[in-house]
Amino acid sequence: MIKKAINSKVMIIGGGVTGLSAAISLDALGIDSIIIEKNSSLGGKVKDYSKIFPDFRSGKTLVRELIDKVEQSSRIRTIVSASVTSAERIDGTYSVQVSDNNRYNVKAIILTCGFEVFDARLQDEYGYGVYPNVVSSLDLEALLEAQEKKGGMLLRPSDGKPVNRMAIIFCVGSRSKRLGNPYCSRICCSYSTKQAIEIMEKNPDASVTCFYMDIRTYDRGFEEMYQYAQELGVKYIRGRVSECSALPDGDIQVRAENTLLGRPVQGIFDLISLSVGMMPCADAEDLAGLLGIERSDDGFFTKKDKYFSQHDTVQEGIFLAGSLTGLKPIKDCLLEGNSVSGRVAAYLNECK
Ligand code: SF4
Repeated sequence: MIKKAINSKVMIIGGGVTGLSAAISLDALGIDSIIIEKNSSLGGKVKDYSKIFPDFRSGKTLVRELIDKVEQSSRIRTIVSASVTSAERIDGTYSVQVSDNNRYNVKAIILTCGFEVFDARLQDEYGYGVYPNVVSSLDLEALLEAQEKKGGMLLRPSDGKPVNRMAIIFCVGSRSKRLGNPYCSRICCSYSTKQAIEIMEKNPDASVTCFYMDIRTYDRGFEEMYQYAQELGVKYIRGRVSECSALPDGDIQVRAENTLLGRPVQGIFDLISLSVGMMPCADAEDLAGLLGIERSDDGFFTKKDKYFSQHDTVQEGIFLAGSLTGLKPIKDCLLEGNSVSGRVAAYLNECK
């Protein structure tokens, strides 16, 4: 049952760092907004990152700073554990039904629903979900967080053994037509290199081996981070891993082909991390359908014009920001949250 209609200027669908940044920037422009977040807390995936790159700040602290600003604002309202169920535009106002049984009347909608990580179980040759010592890069982030808190070495899940021999397999779930994700996820080379550095800095005697297809560290500071990892002793082997198999003591045997030397290689490791790629958010199809906006063949949302309309969609009053149009680093998501607020302010001004 619908309780009441609530008026606001802007609805932001997605309470990750882009959505928070957009709300804070709108607040600075004197514009009120409502954030609708499907999860039970704000902050998206960044709140689960032990450290972000290239400056190794705490992801949790960054999110906390954003949430503090949101909570201090009287213009920003947040609703968690809720999703949009319908939206219709009448006389320039969107009437949006939300699963909290309220209807919201807003002039503009900013979609910032982010991304999902690839489910590594779908690439079954690596044994994710079967072997406890094969983890995803998000799992590794949690292990690194535990390492940071305890101040000791990285411990592996199956038996708490310190990790001295680590392997990271890049491009899991990305750059694969077979898996339906032909694109490069753009940030996982850097993300995994950051994790390799964290391991080596804590345990200089460890060995970390990265199996990669290509190294794509394109942004400012990323290439330097890659070079620093090599100075610490992180090994990079250009090659595709064909199989991971568990040994009786929990160690993982990796078979690969070194594609630079053209010969097979194998090794035994305490722990394997799969550098999982990113995909469109799980509700992208539903949101595109109910808002009447477009997506590309890869499932990511499409801007009205990729050169001249950075945030506009084909629907008047609906705007996009963040990783839902393609993967980008956290600082770019924050920047897009900021820039979409300027675009929306201009749009609201045009509507007067
Ligand atoms: Fe692969 Fe690196 Fe691209 Fe990620 S960023 S898909 S690991 S090449």
